[in-house]
Amino acid sequence: MGSDNLFDDVNLSVAEEIITYAQLISKEGFTKGTWGNISVLHGEYIYITPSGQPYDKLSLEDICVLRKNGNVVYAKNKPSSESAMHIKIYESRNDVKAILHTHPIYSTIVSITLSSIPPIVEDAVMILGETLHVSEYALPGTVELAQNAVAALSNNHCVFLKNHGLVTVGENLQEAFVATQVAEKTAQIYIESLKLGNLSTIPHEHATKLREKYLQSYKQK
Ligand code: 13P
Ligand code: ZN
Repeated sequence: MGSDNLFDDVNLSVAEEIITYAQLISKEGFTKGTWGNISVLHGEYIYITPSGQPYDKLSLEDICVLRKNGNVVYAKNKPSSESAMHIKIYESRNDVKAILHTHPIYSTIVSITLSSIPPIVEDAVMILGETLHVSEYALPGTVELAQNAVAALSNNHCVFLKNHGLVTVGENLQEAFVATQVAEKTAQIYIESLKLGNLSTIPHEHATKLREKYLQSYKQK
C-alpha cells in the first residue's frame, strides 16, 4: 500500500492486520454475525472488509481495496456497505488511519436512549474525547449516515450511531480497538451510574487537560 503494487508484502500485512482485528471484535462480542466493518488508510488506498462476510472465514483476498474517492481498485466481493462512512471520516480527519464500526450492546443502548455521554472517567476522556456524541439517525449504508457520523464524531475518537452502534477511530487499528473497548466500558458505566443517580462529572478544565495529555504525549509512549 502506498506503493504501486497492491499485493506486495506491506499490503498483505495490512490485510492480515484487518483480519486479526475483525476476528478480535467478533471474539470480544462487539459485534454478532457479519455486522460491523473495519478499514485502514494506507498511502493512497483504503483497505476495507467485504460486506456481510463471516469474520472467521475472511482470508487475505477478501479484503477490498478502494481509492480515497471510493473507486474500487480490487474487490473479490462487494466492499462494506458503510464504505461511504469510512471514506468521509478519512476525508475529514488527517489524524485517522484506521476505523472500526461495531454493534456492542451498551454502546447501542446509549445510541437508542441518549444524545451524549458527559466526561465521567479518565480513560474515556483521554482516548475518546470530553463529551461523546450520538449522531442524528440515518438509514445504515447511506451518505446521510456518513455525514451524520462525521458531524457527531467531530474531533473525538468515537461516535455512537443512533439506533445502530459504535464507530471508533485511531492512528492505527490497535488504537481504534482500544477505543472500542473503552467506549463500550464507558457506555456500561454511564448506564449503571444513571440508575444510581447523583451523577458527578469531571470538571471541564480537567477534561481538557486529560485529553490534551493523551493527544500530545501519553499515546506516544
Ligand atoms: P457490512 O457487512 O456491509 O460491512 O455492514 C454491516 C453493518 O454493520 C452496516 O451498518
Ligand atoms: Zn452497522
